[in-house]
Amino acid sequence: MITLKEALCLSADELAKFKEELTQKINDNKELGAYVEQLTNTQIKSASTGVPIAIKDNINILNWDMTCGSKILKGYVAPYNATVINKLQEAGCTPFGRTNMDEFAMGSSTESSCYGKTLNPVDNTKVPGGSSGGSAAAVASGLAIAALGTDTGGSIRQPAAYCGCVGMKPTYGRVSRYGIAAYSSSLDQCGPITQNVEDAAILYDIISGHDEKDSTSAGDVDYSPVAPNLNANKKLTIAVIDNFIEEASEDIKEAFEKTIKSLEDAGHTIVHKNMMDTKKHVSSYYVVATAEASANLARYDGIRFGNRVEGAGLKETYIDTKSQGFGDEVQKRIMLGTFVLSSGYYDAYYIKAQKVRHLIKDDFESIFKDANLILSPVAPTTAPKFGSFKTSLEMYLSDIYTISVNLAGLPAISVPVANDKDGMPIGLQLIGKAYDEQTLFDGAMSLESCVNYKKN
Ligand code: GLN
Repeated sequence: MITLKEALCLSADELAKFKEELTQKINDNKELGAYVEQLTNTQIKSASTGVPIAIKDNINILNWDMTCGSKILKGYVAPYNATVINKLQEAGCTPFGRTNMDEFAMGSSTESSCYGKTLNPVDNTKVPGGSSGGSAAAVASGLAIAALGTDTGGSIRQPAAYCGCVGMKPTYGRVSRYGIAAYSSSLDQCGPITQNVEDAAILYDIISGHDEKDSTSAGDVDYSPVAPNLNANKKLTIAVIDNFIEEASEDIKEAFEKTIKSLEDAGHTIVHKNMMDTKKHVSSYYVVATAEASANLARYDGIRFGNRVEGAGLKETYIDTKSQGFGDEVQKRIMLGTFVLSSGYYDAYYIKAQKVRHLIKDDFESIFKDANLILSPVAPTTAPKFGSFKTSLEMYLSDIYTISVNLAGLPAISVPVANDKDGMPIGLQLIGKAYDEQTLFDGAMSLESCVNYKKN
């Protein structure tokens, strides 16, 4: 598959031909379930100019359906473009196909979409990760040049790691959230999933920037483009968190140790640090995320948004709409979020989780006094088989390495470094200081070249 960098140099005729072949390839690989809908003629026509980019199904594209992988939004047509879509179009790209996801981005395996599951292209018996599993599977299988995903607690980085591609979560506030369906507003960020680090930098440059339509987008920070200034030769100090790695599988530990060695050989300095127990990260995240989700998803009541199930009265209509429209995991999280915000429990759960969130931020700040970047696994294992998570809690624990980054609002990038004994990709992430995407991408370029990852 051509890279994004190459595609941006193609002529209009070459692009048109490429898109025809891509559409054919997508249709020939329906069983992968990477896209939620095969491209309709209108979509192909509306995408007639520009480099095709696959878009997660929670980002509004004018006149396209957008469902967040949920029955409750089937038939919803986007009335406007998300800012990231406008930015893509201004840069000579075009949205091309909606990719599958866990319902409302709540999950780590892309098993909970109302369209059915997406398969991991490396081994079809395994999950592609989630929630942006469709975007990662599309890029990893050559069904997309590049894709957009969203990351609330790891949903870009973890599927990229499971499928063997690159996934990048920008600093909170770097990319406008306007027109992206909110899951947890203080954690959500949109970012690129690509075949290599340079493409991730190019796509990041395209979508980032201040947006007055999003009051949480950062206004007073430098937005210099990173891609033209990439430098893989900068010598950096990289921290590793010793108490983190204990929870990873043997294959991941081994890849981690080898990568540290290669980074040292490339001239970087490694420093060793410790952080708060990851279990506390998980507790804090699942309180904050569900609390915000319970407020954000209240709008899907069948009155203004969402499919209505007509009940005997207004209250019954609300109840029937939500209980038939939302899947089990989403309902569970709405209830959990409502509970932690309810009077009497607010201080014990929500406020406490916010305090832990501050402590996590402090932990990162103190590490960044001595280091430019942090290296950590993305997930404790490689992609598990379908149905491996017997309980929600087991699934939540697979997020131990990613969610702290969102709680602290930091940028991070997942890069494939090796394959495990069964040939499944292993991704490691670099975490950067807030708004220091340049150093993050510089480090990732160096990491990519020193591990020299070969796809299976
Ligand atoms: N797995 C995490 C969750 O279910 C993260 C999901 C995401 O980043 N959207 O909340």
